[in-house]
Amino acid sequence: MAAVKGLAISLGKLAYRPCPWVAIVQTPVTLVFGHAFCFALDAAANATPSGSLRRLLDRRGRRSGGRQAAGLAPGMFRVLFHLDMDAFYASVEQRDNAALRGQPVIVGSPPSRRGVVAAASYEARRFGVRSAMPSATAGRLCPTAIFVPPRMERYRAESQIIMQLLAETGAIIEPMSIDEAYLDLSQSCQGLDADDSLLRGRPIAQTLKRRIWAERQLTASIGIAANKLLAKLASEFQKPDGLTLIPERDKVLFLRPLPVRAIHGVGKVTETVLRQAGIRTVGDLQDHPGDLRALVGSFGPRLKQFARGEDDRPLELGDEIRSISAEETFARDTDDRKVLRACLREQAADIGARLKRKQLGAHTVQVKVRYGDFTTLTRQITVEEPLVEAREIYRLGCFLLGREKLVSRPLRLLGLGVSTLTEPVARQLPLL
Ligand SMILES: [Mg+2]
Repeated sequence: MAAVKGLAISLGKLAYRPCPWVAIVQTPVTLVFGHAFCFALDAAANATPSGSLRRLLDRRGRRSGGRQAAGLAPGMFRVLFHLDMDAFYASVEQRDNAALRGQPVIVGSPPSRRGVVAAASYEARRFGVRSAMPSATAGRLCPTAIFVPPRMERYRAESQIIMQLLAETGAIIEPMSIDEAYLDLSQSCQGLDADDSLLRGRPIAQTLKRRIWAERQLTASIGIAANKLLAKLASEFQKPDGLTLIPERDKVLFLRPLPVRAIHGVGKVTETVLRQAGIRTVGDLQDHPGDLRALVGSFGPRLKQFARGEDDRPLELGDEIRSISAEETFARDTDDRKVLRACLREQAADIGARLKRKQLGAHTVQVKVRYGDFTTLTRQITVEEPLVEAREIYRLGCFLLGREKLVSRPLRLLGLGVSTLTEPVARQLPLL
């Protein structure tokens, strides 16, 4: 039936450089291994880099992608923050309405109407509520939840203010989504060695969190590390309101107990393949002889590097993928639900595969319909946790078609797309 198909990726420049979120730190900093670890860090501050560390740095220097983007001269130490606002949409709602504080808040359509959860407060997450879940399911899981409609304009405006606060640190910033960004503070944090440099980032992170709390009454979690992979894991390590620093000298140990899923680029399929080979934790990956190519193909060598906490990905400051879409023009206009569903499913599979290859997740799903008279409509929905699975994208596509009653007459064209692309979130980071 299909006559024309297309898959598009659009590129665009981010108009806005600055960044995201933070919270108040009660303790000086969340160090991954507690007090013993603090001592190790204090000692490290006065030590010169170990031979292995120096070799690692030299190697990274030669590859140098990350350094160039950050404007780093070879031999300088990288200091990156990953900043992620805590339950952002729901936190904004709770801040703006005192009656919602401490309550399980779900941002999205009420369960009585067909709809999905855009975001959930931590109180609601305790009941198992997650973004992109049907509202009816969320209502069953958490009968006491208070549903509030999303106010995207409000969240975007808040995001800009917070990004401005981040920009005032002088960091180079890569915004990842409305409530998340990487900050490169290498230039202002050079110390005696890699870990001393990271420690110099700590007061900057504390000040940033305090400032966001004082000026916006919102909390964020910050991870500090020498690369993106570790900084992101660090920010997720102790949410909400966390501040975690992963020193270079302890990164291998820090990673060991984490499930393989925690590693950037490891999705369900890779996880299954690894599990079948007896590899469940990052420690198992570290110990695996060889480069893992036999198990996961060309991703093998990189996966091995990630498992050791090595990552030279630069901050992306230029053109980047902004959206992925697929559309199909039918040979004959149709409103046959079976045909339309099959079409959407295929498009979702294309998009999901593309997202996986690029190791991205999407916050926004959009459908596009064109009728016989060439009238064209688009409708979209944005959720807080990025989507990666084709079936979730498909489900939201069906939801949009149904909610908006878009198939009220035969369609000439049907399209599905995703945007607001970011790195996928490892939904659970508990130790195994
Ligand atoms: Mg967040």
